[in-house]
Amino acid sequence: MEVHSQKAHGVKMVSNNNQRDNPYNSKEAFCRFCHLLYERHLAAGVGGNISARSGNRVLLTPTEYSLRDLHPDTVSVVNKKGILMEGDKPTKEANMHLRILRERPDINVVFHLHGPHIIAASTMFEPGPSTLPAITLGFACYAYPLPMIPFMVPGSPDLAKSVSEAFSGKDSFAVLLLNHGLITIGKDFNEAMNIAEEVDEAARVYVLTGGQTPPIPSEKIEQIKSLGNL
Ligand SMILES: [Zn+2]
Repeated sequence: MEVHSQKAHGVKMVSNNNQRDNPYNSKEAFCRFCHLLYERHLAAGVGGNISARSGNRVLLTPTEYSLRDLHPDTVSVVNKKGILMEGDKPTKEANMHLRILRERPDINVVFHLHGPHIIAASTMFEPGPSTLPAITLGFACYAYPLPMIPFMVPGSPDLAKSVSEAFSGKDSFAVLLLNHGLITIGKDFNEAMNIAEEVDEAARVYVLTGGQTPPIPSEKIEQIKSLGNL
């Protein structure tokens, strides 16, 4: 395990994956995380899509594919201009992924997820800079405060613009989409996955307790963040 310098809201993240220094992500790793996201119920049917830098190209999930079925031959590969170089036609959210990757040269991976607890929790808040309260340690440490943007049509230029603007702050690693889902970003697959799992856990606890979970006192949150890795 190694500690590196990426900060999520002032906290050093841990990664046991040396891909962080190597943005040449493989199609095999890409597919492995697609399957994992599906198995974790963070996407269903043909919902959810991800992207990853790979050298001067970007890997994207193809349109109309379930994450559970993805295999390396079908992964869409586009160049910097978004032109398809290999594989099947990319997701309708391709433009959103490419805008986020352009906005944040410090990250290499983008996950867009549709977990049911995440969507349920999104409907319990108004759009704004902070939604879910800091009710679990991991969420407080790595993804709090979690902003949310209003509902917008999937695949629309408005959604791509709003999401990329929400990630313009360098301390922002997750954004909630009202009635729709979540987007997380990271230096590598593990970081984007860790943040998605922390948001999913907090959303699940919030929904299971009917929104009655008392939050961790705000003065303790900075103390928790200063501890670093939990
Ligand atoms: Zn979606």
